[in-house]
Amino acid sequence: MTDALSQSAYSPERPLRVAVIGSGPSGVFAAEALIKQTQVPVQVDVFDRLPTPYGLVRYGVAPDHLTIKSVTRGFEKTLNDPRVRFLGNVEFGTDLTHEEARAHYDALIYTVGASSDRRLGIPGEDLTGSMSATEFVAWYNGHPDAAARDMVLTAGGVAVVGVGNVALDVSRILVKTVAELHESDIAAHALDALAHSHVRDVWVLGRRGAAQAKFTTKELREFGELHEADPIVKPEEVLVDEAAEAAITDNTVKKNLEVLRDFAGRTPEGKPRRIHLRFLVSPTEILADGNGHVAGLKIERNTLDEAGNAVGTGEFETLPVQMVLRSVGYKGVALPGVPFDERRGVIPNAEGRVEGRPGEYTAGWIKRGPSGVVGTNRKDATDTVAHLLSDVAAGLLSPAPHASAEAVDALLAGKSVDVYTFEDWQALDAHELSQGQTLGRPRAKVVHKHEMLTHRKR
Ligand code: NAP
Repeated sequence: MTDALSQSAYSPERPLRVAVIGSGPSGVFAAEALIKQTQVPVQVDVFDRLPTPYGLVRYGVAPDHLTIKSVTRGFEKTLNDPRVRFLGNVEFGTDLTHEEARAHYDALIYTVGASSDRRLGIPGEDLTGSMSATEFVAWYNGHPDAAARDMVLTAGGVAVVGVGNVALDVSRILVKTVAELHESDIAAHALDALAHSHVRDVWVLGRRGAAQAKFTTKELREFGELHEADPIVKPEEVLVDEAAEAAITDNTVKKNLEVLRDFAGRTPEGKPRRIHLRFLVSPTEILADGNGHVAGLKIERNTLDEAGNAVGTGEFETLPVQMVLRSVGYKGVALPGVPFDERRGVIPNAEGRVEGRPGEYTAGWIKRGPSGVVGTNRKDATDTVAHLLSDVAAGLLSPAPHASAEAVDALLAGKSVDVYTFEDWQALDAHELSQGQTLGRPRAKVVHKHEMLTHRKR
C-alpha cells in the first residue's frame, strides 16, 4: 500500500465501497479495474435495472456474432470475484436513489451506456413501419422492454439509414435465412417472425461517400457471403477521385473501398434477396399510404463540400420501401439525480470525473458518447478508475456513513426490491444454454422479466 493510501480512510476492515451503475461492458471493466489494483482494499456492487448482466453484449451485439460475446467469460470471472457483487433487477433512481447510493458507497461510477437513439428530423418519421434500429435490435435480441412488441415483417422493401456497424447488423439479420439464423442466439419470437418475413430488398443509405462510411471491413465482407442475398453496389457511387484516394491513410477505409468495388463488379447471382449499399444520398421524407404506414422513402443525391459534409444536389428519387430503420447513432438517457448534457447525451465529465460531483465517476458510452467496440470500454473504464484511485490517494472522497453490504441489503429489502444475484443469473444462463442445446441452438433466451425471475440459485 502506498503511504498516501495507508493513511487513507480505507482498510481491509473498512474497504473502499464502490457502486457501479450498469453491468454492461464498461461497468464490468470498471469493476475489473477496481479489483485488479492493489493500492486500496475494495468492495464493488454492480447494479443493473435488468435481472441479466452484460448490457449490450447480451442485447446489442448481433445474435450471429457469437465470438464477440465470448468476452462474457472474462466478465464472469469479475462478477464471481468475492469482492464483487451483482445486484440485478435494481433500478437506479427508484429502488436505489442517488441520495441513498451516496449514503452507502464512497464512490459511484455510472456506466449505463446509451439506451435511446438519434432521430432524422424528417417528415414521416413517426409513421407505422418507421422505427429506430435500436428498437429493432432490442426486439430481435430479446430485450425484455421490446420482446412483447408485435413486429410484422410484411415489408418487401426496407431502408436502413446510416452506414455504421449497427446498420450492417440489422440489414444482415433482415436478409439471413432461417437456417443461418438458427445458428445464432436470436430470440425465438424474432426467428419466427423473420421466417415469415416478406423482405426482398434492403437499401443501406450513407449520406456521405463510401470513403466516409463508419462500418468495418469484416462486417461489410459478410454481405458477400450470404446464402440468399446478393450485395448490390452502383460503381459510380464508390468512385473516389485520384487525389482523394491517394490521401486515404486509414486502412479500414482502403479495405472497405476494395470490398465495395468488388461488390460493384459482381454480376448478381439472382439470389431471392438483395442488399443495396448506397452512398451520397440522404432521406428527405418518409412517404405514407392512406393508413399511416410507410409507403416509400424520398432520398436526395448529395455531393461533398470541401469540409467533407453532405450537401443536397436537388436531385431526388423514391425508394419502394414499407419499412424504415434509422441507424444514425445511439443516445444516452439522463439518470435521476445525476447531471446530464442533453445535447450530447452524456454525463458531463472531465476524463471520467462527473463535473461538480466529487466521488462520482462515469465510463463507457454515457461518458464519451456511442462509439467504439466492446473492447474500447476496457481502457475507458480503466482510465476512469485510475482517476478515482488518485482521488482516493489525495483524500478527496468523503467516506459514506452506511458503507456496508448489509446496509445496502437492508435498504433494498426494506423497499421490497427483488434483487437478482449473480448466482441467480448463472441458474438462468444454465437454463438458457441447456434449452438451446435441446433445440440445436447456442442459447434459447428467456425474454420476459417475470420468467427470468423464476430462475434462481437453488
Ligand atoms: P456510427 O458508427 O456512429 O454510425 C452512424 C451512421 O449514421 C454514420 O454513417 C453517420 O453518418 C450516419 N448518420 C448520422 N446522422 C445521420 C443523418 N441525419 N442522416 C443520415 N445518416 C446519418 O453508429 P452505430 O452504427 O450506431 O454504431 C455505434 C458504435 O457501435 C460504433 O462505434 C460501432 O462500430 C459499434 N458497433 C460495433 C459492432 C461490431 O464491432 N461488429 C457492431 C455494432 C456496433 P456520418 O458519418 O455522415 O455522420
